[in-house]
Amino acid sequence: MPKEPMLILSPGREKSLLRRHVWIYSGAVSALEGEVAPGETVVVADSKRNFLARAAWSPESQLVARVWSFDPHERIDADFFMRKIATAIELRRFLKLDLARGGCRLVHSEGDFLPGLIVDRYGEFLVVQFLSNGVEHFRAEIIDALTKLTKAKGIYERSDVSVRAKENLPPKSGLLAGIEPPNPLIIEEHGAKYAVDVRHGQKSGFYFDQRDSRAVLMRFAPGKRVLNAFSYTGGFGVAAALSGAEHVINIDSSAPALKLSRHNMEMNKIPSERYENRESDVFAELRAFAEAKRKFDIVVLDPPKFIESARALTKGCRAYQDIARLGFGLLNPGGLLFNFSCSGLMTPELFQKITADAALDAGVNGVIVHRLEQAPDHPTNLAVPEGFYLKGLLTRISTD
Ligand code: SAH
Repeated sequence: MPKEPMLILSPGREKSLLRRHVWIYSGAVSALEGEVAPGETVVVADSKRNFLARAAWSPESQLVARVWSFDPHERIDADFFMRKIATAIELRRFLKLDLARGGCRLVHSEGDFLPGLIVDRYGEFLVVQFLSNGVEHFRAEIIDALTKLTKAKGIYERSDVSVRAKENLPPKSGLLAGIEPPNPLIIEEHGAKYAVDVRHGQKSGFYFDQRDSRAVLMRFAPGKRVLNAFSYTGGFGVAAALSGAEHVINIDSSAPALKLSRHNMEMNKIPSERYENRESDVFAELRAFAEAKRKFDIVVLDPPKFIESARALTKGCRAYQDIARLGFGLLNPGGLLFNFSCSGLMTPELFQKITADAALDAGVNGVIVHRLEQAPDHPTNLAVPEGFYLKGLLTRISTD
């Protein structure tokens, strides 16, 4: 067997790998021995040349390598991807998310020990994102394993995302195997039907990560007036209306998202007088509601990632605090604020502090009645805490 290329780390830089973290930064590397193309597998060794792991090589990225396996005997080949994907599928079965007409995240990157691979299942169809050189290199093996293990009718690629640029990979999208998914695809969740545009929608088309929080909202929404800000295709709004909310306002800046939101309301037979979809800027709309002294029983704030990098932290925190303050100000006594942050750089402690400051600014007292987070089909690898990104709080303001 030819000698494997070897990535040798600087002294002391093996520590994170010994704790099973899978990312290797360019600054940790002292030498690369042998010829290796992007995405190919290297052996990672400490400064004394002891074996640490096998990893995918990604020279253009800040993360020059991501570990596939810490087992010196494990080869990275078609069988490896079969085993890892089978394990990921078993976890969803264990989580009881293998519902025929439902959907879920089937592979969540490091959370399923497959760095850079995202697979979402929409009923009988799969949507895949290859986000690193490693998974790009093994795309044929991965598609083959997914086809064999899921018997999906079709596999569609949505690697048209900006993070690919960090790996020097061009955007890609289109059908990879089987038949074209219908447009829209219909899935079911908590008894609601949702139409999903897997070709053009955000992420792979639907925010599965909010599934459990939608269930919490359904418990409290009956009879309530709900404001769903950053609604996208109306995930929280449909859940609230279906569970008996008196009225729902969805606000989003995206016209195609709101078109699907209306379609979703109609498909779930919500009478048109019980909802409204507004194409607008949430910040402006919340201010206008405040000026008009409009009140709601429940406000949901699920904004896009406001903090993309450490440099954007202060500005992002201010944005989270601003909308939470406006949200609190619109609540009736005893009202509920659901606020979220999907920024990985926002810690749960910081988010709680921001929410507390927002309540102070709004002049309301509140208690946290639920802590919310990404649904369990977005698991966090214990060794890679960065995989925990979505956090939320359900705060009830006082009744007097
Ligand atoms: N809650 C949704 C997901 C929200 S994603 C769900 O569960 O499905 C964030 C949404 O915010 C996107 O749909 C995006 O179009 C919208 N958005 C971003 N900035 C906005 C702004 N300033 N005003 C209104 N909508 C905005």
